[in-house]
Formats: sequence, structure tokens, C-alpha cells
Amino acid sequence: MKSSLQKAKSGKVFLVGAGPGDVELLTLKAARLLAVAEVVLIDDLAGDDVLTLCPQARIIHVGKRGGCKSTPQSFIEKLLVREALAGHTVVRLKGGDVSLFGRASEEIAALEVAGIEFEVVPGVTAGLAAAAQLKSSLTHRDHAHGVAFITAHGAEGAEIPWQALAQSALTLVVYMGVARAASLQASLLGGGLRADTPVIAVENAARADVRSVCSTVANMVGDFARQSLKSPAVLVIGEAMRERAVQLAVDAANTADISIASVA
Ligand code: SAH
Repeated sequence: MKSSLQKAKSGKVFLVGAGPGDVELLTLKAARLLAVAEVVLIDDLAGDDVLTLCPQARIIHVGKRGGCKSTPQSFIEKLLVREALAGHTVVRLKGGDVSLFGRASEEIAALEVAGIEFEVVPGVTAGLAAAAQLKSSLTHRDHAHGVAFITAHGAEGAEIPWQALAQSALTLVVYMGVARAASLQASLLGGGLRADTPVIAVENAARADVRSVCSTVANMVGDFARQSLKSPAVLVIGEAMRERAVQLAVDAANTADISIASVA
């Protein structure tokens, strides 16, 4: 019979934000933890480049991208607990930041229930990488006094207070919005957002194949379809983007990676 003294010490789990895909945007802490990890669980969105930082680790891919073969969330939670109970140092790498749209709360709850020691290490979220790509501020002293990070996942339902958001004058940074552009547009217009409000989509922010599509709330659905906008992309919406949108329109003729559609 095992006494509590004989019981093997369980390992520790680090929930780590991998940033949007550029390895240089990892925190030093994330890089240090990767270098000592015994097991790394990695999302598709984290990108495989980061794995060069943990050649010693056992890598488990647990991707869940929309439409593709996915790893059930409950399986990921069981895996985290199992590996930690086996005494391993586990890094759970998530694309962008851990706390945004990454189902971290379920993993945290599972670790707490199992009594596993864990830490959360933040990362650069896609919306901030998009702002950097656009060389643009998400706030603007004349137009936007804050930012809302929103998923378009519930765009067709009543879960998101679109009217309040439209009236808030916050810059809206919308995740998972490409496939739901039509319902997002309907919700934004229904909520009272002006039809000529600028919308800039940034596809593959902080990656070699980054691309921007510039539009307005009125034209976003057609423009995104014409430009074949693909996931992953974030949509940055609001008056804080107007100056940049106008400038992109002016620069369009000479700039290969910026696709301009219809900015007034
Ligand atoms: N935790 C992540 C978000 C995961 S939800 C973060 O903080 O960034 C997945 C969504 O994130 C995608 O549908 C897309 O909207 C956005 N996303 C993730 N990586 C991206 C990237 N490199 N460029 C643009 N959008 C990205």
C-alpha cells in the first residue's frame, strides 16, 4: 500500500500563449518553459515553428480548427491531467493568448479538480498582432476609448449585446468572423452601427502570408468573398480604423499585400 510520502509527486502544467504565429512574439518565459518541458500539447493555431524551441519534448498535436478533424476538449483535459499525474512538466501551448477564446476555463477547472499545480503564461493575442500589422492604434483619443474582443460565434443569436456595442464607440476586434461575416454584418447594422464604419480584416497576422482586406460594414460580405478572405483572420471594426482605411485605399495601387475594396 502506498503512503502519501511514497506517492510520486505530480508534475506541473503551464498553460502558455504561443502568440499569433511569429516565434519572435513568444515571451521569454514561454521560450524558457518550452526548453524544459517534457510534454508539449499544441494547437494548430500555435504554428509548428515554435516546436524548434522544445526538441527534447514529446509533442502531442491537439488541433481543433473549424471544419477539420478535431481533438475533443474532454480528451485534452484528461491528457493534461494524466501527463501531470505521471510527474511530467507539461506545456499546453495555445495560439495567441490563453485567456481569449481558447477554452482555458475548462482546462483550468479540470486541473483544479484533479489538484494539479498549474500556471498561466500570457501571449500576444491575434487582435493585437493585427493592430501591429496595420501599424494602427486600436484606441484613438477622438474616436475610441477602448476595445472589445468579441467572438462572432454567437453573432446570429441574442447572446452578444450588439446594440450596446454599436453605441459604445469601442473598437470591435472580432474573432472567428470569416465564416459568419453575413450574420455579423446583420447584427452590426441591426445594432445601429453606421453602414460606412470601416472594417479591416487581417488574415494570418504576424505570419509570412499576412494579408489585409479593407471594407465597410455595408460592403464587408461582398468584399471578403471577392478577396477570398480565409480563416484565421480578425476583423477590426470602428472609427479608429478610418484614417488607416483611407490611407490603405490611397496606397493600394502600389501595395501588393493590401487588397482594397470599398472605403469611402
Ligand atoms: N486565443 C487566440 C484566439 C483563438 S480563437 C488568440 O488570442 O489570438 C481563433 C481565432 O483567432 C481565429 O478564428 C481568428 O479569428 C483568430 N486568429 C488566431 N490567429 C490568428 C492570426 N495569426 N491572424 C489572424 N487571426 C487569427
